[in-house]
Amino acid sequence: MIIRVHIQDRLFENRIRYVFRFIEEHVTAASKVKFVFDGEAADQKLNYGTTPGDGLFIPAQGLIFNEALPDPACLTANKYLYRNMTLYSVSDRMAPVQKFFAEGRLFAFDLIETIFYHISRYEEYLLPEEMGHSWALADPAKRFLPRLGLLKIPVVDHLIFAFLHAIGAQPERGVTRFRLTHDIDIPYKLPNLFKVMKSAGRELLIERRGLKAVTGLLGTYRQMRRGLAKDPYDTFDWLFRSESLDKSAYFMAGGITAQDNYYRIEDAAHLIRMAKDRGYAIGLHPSYEAYRDGRLFEREKARLERVAGQPVKRSRQHYLRFQFPVTPQIIEAQGIKEDSSLGYRDRIGFRCGTGFGYRLYDFDREGAFDFVEVPLILMDISLVREAGRDKEAMREVLFDFLDRNRYLTQVTVLFHNSIFDMEYQTGDELRALYFELVKRMGEGNDESRKR
Ligand SMILES: [Zn+2]
Repeated sequence: MIIRVHIQDRLFENRIRYVFRFIEEHVTAASKVKFVFDGEAADQKLNYGTTPGDGLFIPAQGLIFNEALPDPACLTANKYLYRNMTLYSVSDRMAPVQKFFAEGRLFAFDLIETIFYHISRYEEYLLPEEMGHSWALADPAKRFLPRLGLLKIPVVDHLIFAFLHAIGAQPERGVTRFRLTHDIDIPYKLPNLFKVMKSAGRELLIERRGLKAVTGLLGTYRQMRRGLAKDPYDTFDWLFRSESLDKSAYFMAGGITAQDNYYRIEDAAHLIRMAKDRGYAIGLHPSYEAYRDGRLFEREKARLERVAGQPVKRSRQHYLRFQFPVTPQIIEAQGIKEDSSLGYRDRIGFRCGTGFGYRLYDFDREGAFDFVEVPLILMDISLVREAGRDKEAMREVLFDFLDRNRYLTQVTVLFHNSIFDMEYQTGDELRALYFELVKRMGEGNDESRKR
């Protein structure tokens, strides 16, 4: 199906075309729709602007596509109904609930601007992160979706499905797909006696777990030395899955702060081999300062490539530190093809309004980056924090989220090898949840492939 789009005001044409291309490449579109912009022959016409004309019509709001920058704090989401779906706009004024599509051709709000606002992460350009403390938190003062209680809904994915359905493009209501990832921050808790003493001090003074925990640690270390016990973080044997999922393991290979250098990548060659054997792609976990230091990023990537014996094409930022526009520019310049950093550190849910991979927008060049950003949706520690470290709440939060998102999106999952020991109060429950989750991920992907 070919649709000829007439853009009435061409000032923001690049951004508008970027959104139509995003829709075209969206998984639910299944390559069934193509947008053209010039006088080519088409099956339907679509006007985007202020005059409906004939054919389909999307009213231009002129709020996000405007030379005067919008104030993110004043934006709200109005509700629109389409069949059994509720859709959400990005607007600067409240409106009553309306129908999304009328008379077989009129859309009720500017979905092009709405999609752009979410996927370009425009608000993150307008309100840059303070990397000191607040980065990647679902801070309602700074982020639209958490503030309006919409972070559990892939608002962009829903909107695209409804739009394609309305224009008769027969989108696919696919079963949600899953991807599995791990960041290897600290492979081993007790690699030597020095680290044992450090851990003991930590448990005593910071975690206040008491002397019993310390004797426990020493006992574990003694048993490890005799080959009778495993390091508490050495969960790789069951963490690395062999199921046929899209899987990535991100390794660290340097760093210049106290948050880095918990291991030498050269000492983790066996873990890289093990991950590869189980079908994982090997990615870089750039260190704490690499989000704004291209040369540091480059050194770490080269070092990982030497040890892995292959080019590295995937990355995820340590602590999800990601600042627009410098971080995506570095990722692009380093030849990374896929990044997966855009998630929340304290909540599970959608930071970009979509779970699917897509190309971010480069405001400097006014065009799409080449690399694909696959938003991070479900991180272990986010789940633990959202549930207030309560076992039952954890299970409820997780399965409620999965049940609500059975269709129409993609969920990228992150589990750390160390989480089960670090979160000692809930470690066993987390491990049980991990096994249930992976089972469900495999089943979901099987079903998604069948369709
Ligand atoms: Zn990390």
